[in-house]
Amino acid sequence: MILVFLLAVVSLTAAAPAPFPADHRTMTKTVSYAEMTAFLTAVARPGLITVTEEGRTHQGRQVLLVRLNRGGTKARFRVLYYAQQHGNEVAGKDALLTLIRDIAQHPELLPEDVDLYLMPMLNPDGAEAHRRLNGAGEDLNRDHLLLAQPETQALHRVARRIRPHLAVDSHEFGRDGKDYTDRGWEAWPLITMDAANHPLIPDYLKTAGLEAVAAAAPLQKKAGHTYARYSVGGPPPDEEIRPSTPEVDDGRNGMGTLGALSFIIEAGVRHQAKEPQADLGARVDGYRILYRHLLGDRVWRDRVYKLAERARREPLPPFIATNVFWANLGGKVTSVKVLETATGRVLEVPTANAMTDLVVKGSVPTPRAYAIEPALAARFLPVLEAQGLRFEALSAPRRARVERVRLLRLEEPYDELYQRYKDRQIVERQAPADLDLPVGTLVVPLDQDLARRAIQVLEPCLLYGLYGYPGFRESAKPGAFLPVSRLF
Ligand SMILES: [Zn+2]
Repeated sequence: MILVFLLAVVSLTAAAPAPFPADHRTMTKTVSYAEMTAFLTAVARPGLITVTEEGRTHQGRQVLLVRLNRGGTKARFRVLYYAQQHGNEVAGKDALLTLIRDIAQHPELLPEDVDLYLMPMLNPDGAEAHRRLNGAGEDLNRDHLLLAQPETQALHRVARRIRPHLAVDSHEFGRDGKDYTDRGWEAWPLITMDAANHPLIPDYLKTAGLEAVAAAAPLQKKAGHTYARYSVGGPPPDEEIRPSTPEVDDGRNGMGTLGALSFIIEAGVRHQAKEPQADLGARVDGYRILYRHLLGDRVWRDRVYKLAERARREPLPPFIATNVFWANLGGKVTSVKVLETATGRVLEVPTANAMTDLVVKGSVPTPRAYAIEPALAARFLPVLEAQGLRFEALSAPRRARVERVRLLRLEEPYDELYQRYKDRQIVERQAPADLDLPVGTLVVPLDQDLARRAIQVLEPCLLYGLYGYPGFRESAKPGAFLPVSRLF
């Protein structure tokens, strides 16, 4: 009887071949949406691998979540790995699918204390069209503030439901952009990683994140992969290079402010190569090394568990940083590695334009709550709901200590001199006054679990805030009060 059962399992597995080679390092073709859904349907197994639909895209495709758990309620360390927000950045998805294959074949690879949630393809419409944007032409990794897209809404619903202790976003960058090839170079690393860095994330989470980024270096070296901390910017020595944006419209900081130890991984692709996927297997291997490294051992997981649980209960800081930017304190000279295309040599280019110090240039006292004026309530409601924020719609006028904020101007263009993002909102705070908030005002208190997200969405004094976005830009008139006030 037992033998018959075993044979049945073996034949089921044989009937569901994975859409990639047994040795992932030989991959040269990414897995399509149709191949992925067929594979996940076949590999699902009660008590080990569960696949659920968490949303539908504009073009009707499924946003799928795969849960791997063999410890039941003993699996207290919750992990969320998500990939392919940008449809043409594929290696993270492929790496996650090979991990699922491995665990399906060898469940003992999954530690019993790990509750592992994977969203391998967040943007199936973009994946099918091999483009960055989703089916509505939106960039999902700039939508974590407004959550206007079904794919990001699905991700955040999942994240609020499971509250991961560890979260990883997965992307790819171009190694052979024109600014590099014009110099006879390409970007050096095959794979990069960075931790979340938003000022509202407690320092102990950021420190643990950077430790994990550094500790991955010998593992990648041993596997023969070039690796660095993830950065953005142009080639050295003249262009600025810095860790990724400290703002919150991306997934990494978005998950970080939910209290997860949060990372981004970016593998490097040679877009100009005759066959850009020729080294897909190496990128997938680099990804797998980092995914497994971040899962770590029991000691690491217990430490991250405690840090994330602590971050979740951490009281708000007394001040909110509103103007934050990367700088190089003291003008330190460092070096940046590039690959010389003609020779394959690694060059170390000295530069004083590597900005790794996060400077806070302005802060405001943390309010008790925010108030949204009734005329704009309908505009803000979908955002509050997509973010899962608690609020109250006033049914009677309410007296409150109100600090209103006047918009002086929106600085629209990208700032070349300071290499800052465009759409800065320059504001002036008014002295607080006792006022009657009218009926229909939405009051969003900060004594709630998701207070940090409420601040990111609503704080009117942020230099980079809501009013740079279409749909909200129209509600910000230079010289007039912004529709959100600060309550004390
Ligand atoms: Zn990307």
